[in-house]
Amino acid sequence: MELHGVGVGRGIAVGPVLTMPEPLPEPADQKHGGDAAAEKAAVQVAVAAAAAELQERAGRADGAGREVIEAAIQMAQDPMLADDVNARIDAGTSGERAVFEGFLFFQEQLIALGGYMAERAADLGDVSQRIIAQLRGVAVPGVPDSPAPFVLLARDLAPADTALLDLDKVLGLITRDGGPTSHTAILARAKSIPAIVGVGADAAIAEGTRVILDAASGVVTVDPSAKAVAAAEKRIAERAAQAAAPITDGALADGTKVPLLANLGSPKDAAAAVELGAEGVGLFRTEFLFLDAKTAPSVEDQQAQYTELLQHFPGRKVVVRALDAGADKPLSFLNDAHEENPALGLRGLRALRSEIQILHDQLAALKGAQDATEAELWVMAPMVADAEETQFFVEYGKELGLTTVGVMAEVPSLAVVADQVLALADFVSIGTNDLTQYTLAADRMLGTVAAYQDPWHPAVLRLVKMLGDAGAAAGKPVGICGEAAADPQLAVVLVGLGATTLSMTPAALADVRAELATVTLDQARAKAAAALSASTAAGAREAAAGA
Ligand code: PEP
Ligand code: MG
Repeated sequence: MELHGVGVGRGIAVGPVLTMPEPLPEPADQKHGGDAAAEKAAVQVAVAAAAAELQERAGRADGAGREVIEAAIQMAQDPMLADDVNARIDAGTSGERAVFEGFLFFQEQLIALGGYMAERAADLGDVSQRIIAQLRGVAVPGVPDSPAPFVLLARDLAPADTALLDLDKVLGLITRDGGPTSHTAILARAKSIPAIVGVGADAAIAEGTRVILDAASGVVTVDPSAKAVAAAEKRIAERAAQAAAPITDGALADGTKVPLLANLGSPKDAAAAVELGAEGVGLFRTEFLFLDAKTAPSVEDQQAQYTELLQHFPGRKVVVRALDAGADKPLSFLNDAHEENPALGLRGLRALRSEIQILHDQLAALKGAQDATEAELWVMAPMVADAEETQFFVEYGKELGLTTVGVMAEVPSLAVVADQVLALADFVSIGTNDLTQYTLAADRMLGTVAAYQDPWHPAVLRLVKMLGDAGAAAGKPVGICGEAAADPQLAVVLVGLGATTLSMTPAALADVRAELATVTLDQARAKAAAALSASTAAGAREAAAGA
């Protein structure tokens, strides 16, 4: 049997499948049958079982991981928490509901304390889910824990799940939902986890069944033949050898320089990016630093993080994006209101303009980091629609002392008025993920429309050309920082359309570097022209390959 989806990257994985259980629904607000003592005893047994399970995990974890789990075990067995849950049961509440309410009450108290205690609140939520799962006799939600490596099948992953994946264990990821630019896909690419997303809501594979996950073709082969497994394993070895090839700066075959930059979400990833040959940073996603924050980060906290990042790149360009909150990356302290269509809502620069103090503090922190380091800091705004918004951001950034200020091209309207925008901004960086989502009107998080989320679509390529031409006319840089830059064949076409730099997850640098070196600028332009005149994404891909 085969499952088909959209591959992320070009990796391959072979291994047994484990399925991630769905989160448990909130227990109904109901009373128990009258025997409070029996209800309390059942909760006690469930708490002990959850603690024993965590203890076993702690024994296999190391360092910080073990400390976090041990802290969770202590919280699970906190006598005050037990008293609170028991009091609720004595008042008639069912055991499951009493655990839910009691833990929630303590979680809220931890959040109110702020700092380290607030960070532990999410762990308490995890413990409560484990106890409720024990009471119900169902599988514990979250990423499964296995002593042996496995391929994970999930509906989709929350950013926190993906961030916590144990890379020694998770060989590959298959998601039923999600498109190629959902944040699951982006993080999978960043961590070099072979992934196939959007395989369909009904996709199911029996636990432990061996699969081959081939991201380049987007195919999951279930229960493959021994011959197919041997061929896949050979390709895995070949890719490992290719990744070890010598590192040079990005350039075409005729010597035209195409700086290859890194997309990063944390200063902690900077050293690894430099090692993989990143010539700077083309997109630093600042919102990733604050996904769990309940209150706006302080100037000092931000300045420390930005300074840590910039210190890795003396004399190099580092493009930092102002907080891009909304839709796939909600930040509760910035835009928390419910919206019917969050992708079309108060997000990106729009949200920052409505909370100007947050924007002010972020740009002030960036100015501090700019002054404290030797890196060349460029700052840009996300989700910019037109020249008026460009003017606002560029003027505001310069008033606060930033040297180089630009905008992201993600909303198609910005490309349509590219000449006006490039007269104002120091540079433009094209976010092909959102540019594709909005050009094709297809939610990048939604598996059912994942096929539309294809940056090879000639409509997207034509917008890129409009921006590239406007950049060349104004003598200003136009880079690419969406996932499109990580597709080696498309990277060549983007350069042919006028992109001056390419920024991608560091794991993709080697493949793109190798492909660029095979074409001259004239050949890249010929491929771009061929792709532009196709009428479908698949047609553009074929036309570029044949040109
Ligand atoms: C994009 O939209 O292409 C982009 C780079 O930003 P993000 O993926 O973070 O929305
Ligand atoms: Mg975007």
